Amino acid sequence: MANPAECTIKVMCRFRPLNKSEVARGDSYIPKFQGEDCVLITGKPYYFDRVFQSNTTQEQFYNAVAQQIVKDVLDGYNGTIFAYGQTASGKTHTMEGVLHDTDMMGVIPRIVQDIFNYIYSMDENLEFHIKVSYFEIYLDKIRDLMDVSKTNLSVHEDKNRVPYVKGASERFVCSPEEVMDAIDEGKNNRSVAVTNMNEHSSRSHSIFQINIKQENAQTGQKLTGKLYLVDLAGSEKIGKTGAEGTVLDEAKMINKSLSALGIVISALAEGSNYIPYRDSKMTRILQDSLGGNCRTTMVICCSPSAFNEAETKSTLLFGQRAKTIKNSVTLNVELTAEQWKKKWEKEKEKNKTLKNTVDTLESELQRWRTGESVPEEEQFDKEKAKEEVQAVENVLNHDKMAATPALGGPPGVQLQGPGGGTSGAELSKLYKEMDDKDDEIDQQSQLLEKLNQQMQDQEELLASSHRDHDKLQTELNRLLSENEASKEEVKEVLQALEELAVNYDQKSQEVEDKAQEFEALSEELNQKSSSLASIDTELQKLKEMTNHQKKRVTEMMSSLLKDLAEIGSAMGTKEIKQQESTGVIDEEFTVARLYISKMKSEVKSTVRRSRQLEGAQAESDQRLAETEKELAACQLLTSQYEAKIRSLTESVQILEQKKRQLEESVDALNEELVKISAQEKVHATEKEKMQSANEVKDAVQKQIMSHREAHQKQISSLRDELDSKEKQITELQDLNQKISLEQERLRAEHEKLKAADQERNRKLQELTGIQDRREQAKQDLKGLEETVARELQTLHNLRRLFVQDLNTRVKRNADADSDDTGGSAMQKQKIAFLESNLEQLTRVHKQLVRDNADLRSEIPKMEKRLRATVERVKALELALKEAREVAGRDRKRYQQEVDRIKEAVRSKNMSRWRTAAQIAKPIRPGQQPGAPPANPGVVRPNSVQTPQPAGLRGGGGGGAPAQQDKSSYSYDC
Ligand code: ADP
Ligand code: MG
Repeated sequence: MANPAECTIKVMCRFRPLNKSEVARGDSYIPKFQGEDCVLITGKPYYFDRVFQSNTTQEQFYNAVAQQIVKDVLDGYNGTIFAYGQTASGKTHTMEGVLHDTDMMGVIPRIVQDIFNYIYSMDENLEFHIKVSYFEIYLDKIRDLMDVSKTNLSVHEDKNRVPYVKGASERFVCSPEEVMDAIDEGKNNRSVAVTNMNEHSSRSHSIFQINIKQENAQTGQKLTGKLYLVDLAGSEKIGKTGAEGTVLDEAKMINKSLSALGIVISALAEGSNYIPYRDSKMTRILQDSLGGNCRTTMVICCSPSAFNEAETKSTLLFGQRAKTIKNSVTLNVELTAEQWKKKWEKEKEKNKTLKNTVDTLESELQRWRTGESVPEEEQFDKEKAKEEVQAVENVLNHDKMAATPALGGPPGVQLQGPGGGTSGAELSKLYKEMDDKDDEIDQQSQLLEKLNQQMQDQEELLASSHRDHDKLQTELNRLLSENEASKEEVKEVLQALEELAVNYDQKSQEVEDKAQEFEALSEELNQKSSSLASIDTELQKLKEMTNHQKKRVTEMMSSLLKDLAEIGSAMGTKEIKQQESTGVIDEEFTVARLYISKMKSEVKSTVRRSRQLEGAQAESDQRLAETEKELAACQLLTSQYEAKIRSLTESVQILEQKKRQLEESVDALNEELVKISAQEKVHATEKEKMQSANEVKDAVQKQIMSHREAHQKQISSLRDELDSKEKQITELQDLNQKISLEQERLRAEHEKLKAADQERNRKLQELTGIQDRREQAKQDLKGLEETVARELQTLHNLRRLFVQDLNTRVKRNADADSDDTGGSAMQKQKIAFLESNLEQLTRVHKQLVRDNADLRSEIPKMEKRLRATVERVKALELALKEAREVAGRDRKRYQQEVDRIKEAVRSKNMSRWRTAAQIAKPIRPGQQPGAPPANPGVVRPNSVQTPQPAGLRGGGGGGAPAQQDKSSYSYDC
């Protein structure tokens, strides 16, 4: 490309191989290749700059097609590579290929690599600034693939009237890896944004743009090159790819840019004055590449399958059309001051030349006007002037100082119509207006988009906030219920604590009471034991006294008896002795009498008691006999009932059997009935057959009727019988039940009576024992009575003898001497004294006996009481021990319970505090975790995260921790 200011678009045609499905389908391979630039489809040749067969490798293709472009771009020209073709024709394969595969990578990664390789080999004084942009056009909207937030970018024109995508992200890169990263990122963004990537990629155009700016550090010369690498949307008609789902408008929009591209190319090919670049955003962006300041290569990708023949043909025609387009390429250079100066001088020179030409022309015109004829050799030489100007321009071109678009006029030569300056100005004005409108539309659509997005965002936000609200509500409800539950639990725990406390109080009270009681009882016991000891000593004393008294009495008695014996013995010998003995006998008599009377009364009472007991025994005997009789009667009744039950059961069984028999007979009768009815039927058929057998039939019928009646009667009677039997059975069952009930009652009564009988027997035995004892006592008493009677008799005899003797003596004495009266008086006195003495003694003895008896009777009582007291003490001690154990256990349990409750409360609080910490955290915006709080009232995350329940807090806890707790609770609520 030495100096081709004007160049056509290069069109390369590439056929891919048949794919698997096409091979499987057996599609034929339709292209036929002729040379390097011709392909025949069904005999028709299509010529391109180069045609690549299906076996062309990526590297071969790149070397042939794209390598030159890298050089051009780095030399300061603009370049574009398009990939055009139907879906699955190999556009992406050609442009991208397998990105990180050295063999399969397509044009873009190879260009990237080459650019850098080329730069590395270039002059050291050159400084490069490379930036890349990546965007796609879908539904005529430009979406930035490097920044997904930019979804609808607009196209503007720079000061040189070159369109560019306004606001597209530009990433500066300094290595091929960075470029590849950008491509990866863009592709990733592209696939993330859509649901069906294949469909999307076939309907959208992706444009990768590389801007290279270079500056020569020595000369200060700046060159810029712009490279567009375009993977176009599938060129097929929408209907074929199955876009039925899309609405018509959308389908139109999908194809809009592509059809606009087709129209632009057609217009350019036809050399039309008006090129509708503005019909779509894509044509606007690529305005420079299509008939502008750009070296453009179009790769038309084709399928070799016969199935896609139509599409392939249309693609090839499109390529042929594009081939005719001419671009006028200029170098994008920014002039240095020196260059500008030179350029100015040259221009001045050119100007001078032109001015000379004008002057020459004017003088010539003047001469013509004045009527003078100008000889041919003096006339203006157009060719010469042109040559002169060309010479000047050539000098300019030679210096590579072609004017930039800004200086050298607009690059789109086609836009400069033959209409000249005025129409051009109008056109540019109109374009400006259109640009403004475009801008406005863009702004509006962007606004709309933004608003839509905002609306969607808002809706989403609303929905999410609704969801959040719901979630929070449920959470709140849950927390509330939890709170309620924990409150309830706390209440319960408190209640339990209270109960425990009350229980504990009660128990301690009880323990105290028990202790007091124990003390009182021990005191009582002490008292009792002391009193018992005193009683014992008293008893001992009394016993001693009794013994003493007894001794004395026996002594006295023995002395009395001795006296009596002495008297008795003396009576026979001496009168005085007789007199003395009379007194002693009297005394003894009185004592004996007393004894006897006592004995008598005792005997009487014993007899009385015995009689009473006998009467009671007789009564109980009688009652026993009665009860036994009753029992016998009951047993009899029971056996009777049992027999009856047995007989009833038997009768029930018999009835059952009868019933069964009857049922069997009923069944038999039924069978017979069936048979008869069958016979009847047979007869009936026979009747039809034989009219003459009518009589027989009647007879049979009658017979049947009579049979039936008899059967029915029998059945009804049997049924009645059955009913009556059933009734009987139920009655008998009732009776049976009654009887069994009665029997049970009787049995219970019998048991009771038996028990009573046993009790009575026991009592009887007791009574017999008592009776025996009484008998014994009676006999003893009798013996005693007898001895007493004998003694009395002897005493009586003695007394009589004594009285007789005394009388005789008295008589004798009265006869003999009157002095003896004094002696008898003395004796009398003595006797009276002795008697009174005896009486006294008897009384004392009686009293003593009584006291003794009382005391004796007291002893068992006291012993009993003592025993009872000891038992009570023991029981109390036991109870106390138990109470102590129970109290200990209770205390232990209480302690455990308290510990457990404390633990539970603490864990509850822990969890609550933890929850509080989690809730509290987001409430404090801007506070660093662990940073000291601005004021002590605010919860510190640390303090919230490690809470200590009030009950478990150490002694160090003052007002501040309490405040913290409070605050954490305030979050909790
Ligand atoms: P498009 O981008 O035009 O829709 P693709 O580039 O995705 O089509 O190609 C479709 C399939 O055909 C891919 O699997 C690709 O690998 C394969 N393919 C396309 N061109 C070639 C080729 N020249 N050689 C081998 N395989 C190819
Ligand atoms: Mg593709």
